[in-house]
Amino acid sequence: MSSLGSQLRAGLLGLAVGDALGVPVEFQSRAARKTDPVVHMRAYGTHNQPAGTWSDDASLTFCLAEAIADEFTVGKAAEYSRRWFYEKLWTPRGSVFDIGITTREALNRLHVDPNLILAGGTDEYSNGNGALMRILPLAFYQADAPLQARFQLIREVSAITHGHIRSAVACFLYLEMVRHLLAGLSPAAAYSQVCQHAPVQLHELNIPAAEANQFERVLSGRLPNISQTGIDSGGYVLHTLEASLWCLLRYTTYADTVLAAVNLGDDTDTTGAVTGGLAGIYYGEAAIPSEWLAVLARRPDIEALAARTAAVVSRSSE
Ligand SMILES: [Mg+2]
Repeated sequence: MSSLGSQLRAGLLGLAVGDALGVPVEFQSRAARKTDPVVHMRAYGTHNQPAGTWSDDASLTFCLAEAIADEFTVGKAAEYSRRWFYEKLWTPRGSVFDIGITTREALNRLHVDPNLILAGGTDEYSNGNGALMRILPLAFYQADAPLQARFQLIREVSAITHGHIRSAVACFLYLEMVRHLLAGLSPAAAYSQVCQHAPVQLHELNIPAAEANQFERVLSGRLPNISQTGIDSGGYVLHTLEASLWCLLRYTTYADTVLAAVNLGDDTDTTGAVTGGLAGIYYGEAAIPSEWLAVLARRPDIEALAARTAAVVSRSSE
């Protein structure tokens, strides 16, 4: 397998495992995790699913990867996302049991109007983490395109469900981090690169100062020094971005990193998924505990998807 192929596979598996670790305790508080931390792949709990069941985060990530494998257009990514909710495409066990409000509204709009693609709400309160949680595969598609083109694509894929600029910027910064990890940098070095270059990039992209300022803390270079009480883990996109980077920068194994994310509480599956994508890519598939992979829903299908997607992206980068 090419190194790109193994990185993509580790990213998808790492994301799905992080999601599945969080599913049984989604919506439970950080205080609950302090007394009863997640340390292994649990079953049942919040959504009453068997162990290893991932949710909307991984489903929509797989839909995006599938669109990339299948002559990518943004419209195809939108269509596959719609088919997840309405036709159970890329569900772990044939049902949809978890979906965010903004995502559901956007997919409803796509369902009603077949010509619609960028269906996401554009108001400031439509800034949940529903685009960030599924954006990872874009790190492998047109990754060498110029900044403006790269951002435009990220913005459109975000806007399938989340049309506000803040969601697009959060996705962009996350994918910048992934780009550096794919290039072989350590998390600390990757974070340092992002902090150094992002302010200029956001300026070049004409991101309004008031929006760029929202990312001041995450780009301060001091994120890993913040204590856990300063890290929020609810559904707001900026909080999920911060929490995922904080976990990646504070811990030194795949397992410790994703468990730290899940044990922040609240939006545990999405924080676990977003963190797990980063940690999977950095530490590699062999670092993911085999007992977690052994129970992961549809593991062979995920591996086949990774291979299909990797074949397309490595062909297009030759
Ligand atoms: Mg979920």
